[in-house]
Amino acid sequence: MRRQDPRPNFMTSAFLKCIEQSCQQRYPLDAKEHQCPECGGLLDVQYDFPRIDPASLRLLWQQRKTSSAITDQSGVWRFRELLPFAPEGTNVVSLSEGRTPLIEVNRTGEWAGGVRLAIKHQGNNPTGSFKDLGMTACITQAAILGSRVTACASTGNTSASMAAYAARAGMKAVVFVPFGKISTAKLAQALEFGAVVIEMGDNFDQAFRMLRELTDELGLYLVNSLNPFRLEGQKTIVFEILEQRDWRVPDYLVLPGGNLGNVSSVGKGLQELRQLGLIDKLPRLVVVQAEGASPFYTMIATGAGEITPVQPRTEASAIRIGNPVNWKKALRAVRLTDGLCESVTDEQIFEAKATLAKDGVGCEPASAAAVAGTQKLVRSGKIEDGADVVAVLTGHQLKDPEISIKRRSERELAQQRLHVEADIHKLRAVLESVMLQSA
Ligand SMILES: *Cc1c(COP(=O)(O)O)cnc(C)c1O
Repeated sequence: MRRQDPRPNFMTSAFLKCIEQSCQQRYPLDAKEHQCPECGGLLDVQYDFPRIDPASLRLLWQQRKTSSAITDQSGVWRFRELLPFAPEGTNVVSLSEGRTPLIEVNRTGEWAGGVRLAIKHQGNNPTGSFKDLGMTACITQAAILGSRVTACASTGNTSASMAAYAARAGMKAVVFVPFGKISTAKLAQALEFGAVVIEMGDNFDQAFRMLRELTDELGLYLVNSLNPFRLEGQKTIVFEILEQRDWRVPDYLVLPGGNLGNVSSVGKGLQELRQLGLIDKLPRLVVVQAEGASPFYTMIATGAGEITPVQPRTEASAIRIGNPVNWKKALRAVRLTDGLCESVTDEQIFEAKATLAKDGVGCEPASAAAVAGTQKLVRSGKIEDGADVVAVLTGHQLKDPEISIKRRSERELAQQRLHVEADIHKLRAVLESVMLQSA
């Protein structure tokens, strides 16, 4: 790694810290483990931030948008003062991730019960999901550590993203996915980027458990969201959202929850923004799970003190996770922001997805869970109508193309997918009836 001198005005010390209140052990950034060697707890990357002037920091971030340097082009590294684990001048592994649009979706907002709804579309990332934000951070850290082989268990998007960033960094990528359970598009991405794909077991949790037993022993660099550096990249989602809103904080920020890394990282990002004086209040974070894979929702709804793993079942494959590793960090984020949790059926997810399509916005099923959950919470009165809501759409529409066709009704297909003989008279008749429909 080539490094220059860190910029003195933003010099910050960074370390790993166990999140367990009873432990709070600190470790250096190059510690091998992703979990506390003392107590097994999850680790955070923490910083002793210096005092900063919020206005000049905002201005600096704004000015970088006109720069063509890769670290300024990236929607993650443009905010590098808040992820200073990589010293200024580090050769980051970036594909110009982030910089995703925030789009108002008025029809969908109406459908959800009359909220002011905008979506932050993470599908507009290099490999088509928010995983790229985390991946640029943790593959950069892997490069700093000199790792040669990266590994992950995945429901598909992590593998596609890791494969791309590992390829860019010149590392070998090994991916564990449940057998026959990930979409062809995601599998194709991982293969094209040169990863070795090991199909194993019936669900994510099983693949992840087995991989974790071997990572330390074999010296693999694990990039699942257990890896705290990944969450550092993903927290910039909320930096971008707030910047795009001129730092006006929304009432609610809604995300789908699978392994619960994303909501954890957004919670951490919000806390840091408040600590540094960039915002003075917090949005309420809302986690939405698929009903057949909702152990976090159940824990919160029942007031249980622990997560009870389930056999995950949902067509929203990216959140088909029954034993979410980050539940303690996610709970911290929900508590910090006085947040909410909801679960939705697959039917509700696909209805939300179809509604977004009427606003011209496509996404993969897991993403639509955030919008379906918003509707459910407005209906039950937990979100007030007229509320200012941002939903994070986590993945691209083309991640799961088969499902978009399979989910259309026969009636819709009869109107939309027409097989016409190559005969000008027949074609004219068909087109005339299409034009009548739209009159
Ligand atoms: C990974 C993923 C999720 C779930 O995110 P977690 O951080 O595991 O909660 C949701 N949607 C998509 C499209 C994903 O790729």
